[in-house]
Amino acid sequence: MIALSHSGHDFEELISRWRTLAHELELKETVISVEGGYEVFAFENQLAVPRCQAGGLYVSAGVHGDECAPPWALLQWVESEPAILTEKPVVIFPCLNPYGFVGNTRHDHAGMDLNRNFQDENVPLIGKWQEFLEDREFDLAINLHEDYDALGIYLYEVVRTGSRGDTLLRACSELIQTETAATVDGSEFKDGLLSHSTNDADLQRIIDEDLEGGCPEALWLAMHHATDSFTFETPSELALPVRIAAHRRFLEEVTRG
Ligand SMILES: [Zn+2]
Repeated sequence: MIALSHSGHDFEELISRWRTLAHELELKETVISVEGGYEVFAFENQLAVPRCQAGGLYVSAGVHGDECAPPWALLQWVESEPAILTEKPVVIFPCLNPYGFVGNTRHDHAGMDLNRNFQDENVPLIGKWQEFLEDREFDLAINLHEDYDALGIYLYEVVRTGSRGDTLLRACSELIQTETAATVDGSEFKDGLLSHSTNDADLQRIIDEDLEGGCPEALWLAMHHATDSFTFETPSELALPVRIAAHRRFLEEVTRG
């Protein structure tokens, strides 16, 4: 684990490296929106460019700007040229809230928690994100997050192909221990894992009752675009290099074919 030679919130460095990668790996770059003066990028491999193609992988990071390990982990993982990039359609949002990333804040430039608004097409970024994803279906959707209250890693899964959350957490717990609390962020967990029902009515009830109508990215993806959806969280009070390493390990394990 190597310390970064730049700030964990250096958006210019992040995007400059993504652009280099896009050139090297023939990834298509799209600026889906400009929010608070910052461009919101999507990158997709050539297999993902015919947008109606089913299967493949969706990954995003940086929805919450104060959670800075995930965007660097996602970048480093793609820099390592994982096999999936040449095998399946891959769509990546490397930093969905660049304004928050630069300012080290959870919210966007309008003070909004984007991750409670993925149902609202009238939020400019969300409307464009929904449009970008229209007609796209993924085998696997991954959202990378952090939690400043947590002491260990934890995972939400909405899976139609069978639970593998325990196996994924075990692999990552070599780097950071698994969260032991029975309640995390208001939900009940077992050994760091919360397995949601895959029934749309159950998911809608969670959104309506537990989240007061505010849909997180992972649940929107599970209900509209993805067979399996995972949200992986690291404790953001730990050192940045170990958090980055844990997210990279998660990406390696969850995409292992
Ligand atoms: Zn978050």
